[in-house]
Amino acid sequence: METQQLAELRQEIVDIAHQLAERGLVEGSAGNISCRYGDNFLVTATGARFYNITVDQVPLVDANGLVLDGNVKPTSEMQMHLGIYESDPKAQAVVHTHSPYATALSLVLDEVPLVHYTQLTLGGSIKVAPYATFGTKKLADTVKKKILGQKGIILKAHGTICSGKTLESAAENAELLEWVCKVYHIASVHGEPREMKPCEVVGVAAAAKLKSYGTVQKTK
Ligand SMILES: [Zn+2]
Repeated sequence: METQQLAELRQEIVDIAHQLAERGLVEGSAGNISCRYGDNFLVTATGARFYNITVDQVPLVDANGLVLDGNVKPTSEMQMHLGIYESDPKAQAVVHTHSPYATALSLVLDEVPLVHYTQLTLGGSIKVAPYATFGTKKLADTVKKKILGQKGIILKAHGTICSGKTLESAAENAELLEWVCKVYHIASVHGEPREMKPCEVVGVAAAAKLKSYGTVQKTK
């Protein structure tokens, strides 16, 4: 029987999928979302479309990708999600998109340099994983290796993948990554985007700690 927590997580995945589709981070049946549920995982179904996905298109699978609850097949990128959970015990959720600016930059760059301080949330410069066919173990292995120490990377000629401590933070990371790539693209139209200097990076870390950056704070 479906527990309340399971139902709530399914609903959250559906809500995030709708939001990402609305914001143009995925097209058609591209993209997938997953989160941990104990030792198992909730994940969007293969062929599901983010803009109209429903809770019955979010099966529960085990660590081998075997369906435990639900009657639809999980995403063909399940191995890619599982690889991230395996290598990062803190990752609670994973979001994969085909967002256009990040995908476009992957065609011309091997890495998006650190040009904006918010990128530090993602781990600094944004790595581009070498190309591998979608849904393959090779792609899963490549991503698992490349994302170590990062919260988000780009997959060459494919899309993006981000993790987070919650579903919300994984989605926020996916949106941030796309925003950074958009800013980088706009800047590159006008000249060579300037990388942040090491002393500027140090300043950001200190200020973020001091001001609890990114959290809503009460005045009393
Ligand atoms: Zn994809």
